Amino acid sequence: MALALWEPTLHSEAQRWHDVAANLTREYFAPAAEQLDREGTYPWGHVKQLVQSGLAALFVPTEFGGQGADLTTISTVVDTVSRGCASTGAILSAYILGAFPLILAGTPEQHREFLPQLVDGNAMSFALTEEGAGSDVSNLATTATREGGNWRIRGEKIYIGNGGASRFYVVFARVNDESVTGVTAFIVDKEQDGVVIDRYEDKMGIRGTNTSNLKLDTVVDDSRIVGQPGKGIRLALSTLNIGRVSVAAQSAGLAYAALQAATAEATRRHTFGTAIIDHQGIGFQLADAATRLTAAQMLTYEAARIYDAGGDISTLGAMAKLYASEAAHYAANAAVQVYGGEGYCKPCIAERLYRDQRVLEIYEGSSEIQRLVIARALKKSA
Ligand SMILES: Cc1cc2nc3c(=O)[nH]c(=O)nc-3n(C[C@H](O)[C@H](O)[C@H](O)COP(=O)(O)OP(=O)(O)OC[C@H]3O[C@@H](n4cnc5c(N)ncnc54)[C@H](O)[C@@H]3O)c2cc1C
Repeated sequence: MALALWEPTLHSEAQRWHDVAANLTREYFAPAAEQLDREGTYPWGHVKQLVQSGLAALFVPTEFGGQGADLTTISTVVDTVSRGCASTGAILSAYILGAFPLILAGTPEQHREFLPQLVDGNAMSFALTEEGAGSDVSNLATTATREGGNWRIRGEKIYIGNGGASRFYVVFARVNDESVTGVTAFIVDKEQDGVVIDRYEDKMGIRGTNTSNLKLDTVVDDSRIVGQPGKGIRLALSTLNIGRVSVAAQSAGLAYAALQAATAEATRRHTFGTAIIDHQGIGFQLADAATRLTAAQMLTYEAARIYDAGGDISTLGAMAKLYASEAAHYAANAAVQVYGGEGYCKPCIAERLYRDQRVLEIYEGSSEIQRLVIARALKKSA
């Protein structure tokens, strides 16, 4: 059952990729979502389909074998996949987050070396967070120090999306050298000496995704520096501007799935002689969820459109991520309420989505950090 709600008007290329994503989601991703959650295993079969269909490297420029898609196209694909399987949507989003430092700031040589590998499924992950540095990235403790003509990177990253499954990692490390001061981004290959991944998080939701640590005592040369030395935080923030729209699209997709399930159940289930959707207490919750979902979609697709037109989305992207993740929370919570006791027990789609949703308000900048970004922009404009 499709919901009769507002949907974005897509340009023809975005519509084409939306349709590819919708077919795969209907055929493969949605039917496996419950099993993925139950077994908590990384869905290599889904990843293979994302790679073979071109969806995994949608954002890679065409000259390197990708689709050269814009953020609107990326958003509709992430939204569509997330309607069927939150884990697969999150995997796709982590692909995007990991690859964008390279796309935004890589050298032509790095593009030639790494982008075709992304197209072949050798994904790249974004490795910024550490034990002492999540929201507060100024506190990074991983270092890169000169050793001969190379760099020795030492430290431990945590909570890496697609960790272990990705071949490459963009690692943000602090450099204090006579020529460079500040955080610098480096590409690290998990196959090189001194790279260890030995912890996978046991998560509340999106249980089909890998979230790992990354221990580093390893050496890379100058050719592995991404972007300007010392300007790594700026690169991380530019990447997160895009990543936040992608998380907003995940959130819109999940909110849609929750509302769709809740509407069907509220129409089917009868109490006191009537469908529960006709009890105002339930019908109004669904009306509010639908309104929030539509507003979340509008913010998400407008942020993507402005980015594609060359605009600055540092504030609008934060608003889209903040609002859409909270809309997903509202919709998933309403779905649990609609299902009643069944919604609190496994296996129930409402129970699963309620757990899957929670991380959307935490990663790529928690809701508090998005509010901080928006408040700072307000202050600057005053
Ligand atoms: C499943 C998952 C996947 C992830 N994927 C990645 C990834 O691919 N790459 C990566 O680098 N990281 C990743 N992360 C890390 C994620 O981005 C961080 O967990 C997040 O930014 C929060 O940081 P923290 O956990 O250190 O919490 P903290 O920064 O310690 O924050 C704890 C709480 O305090 C609040 N808080 C902190 N500072 C302020 C403030 N100034 N004002 C108000 N409130 C504040 C926060 O909002 C939060 O509620 C992932 C995390 C998870 C759970």
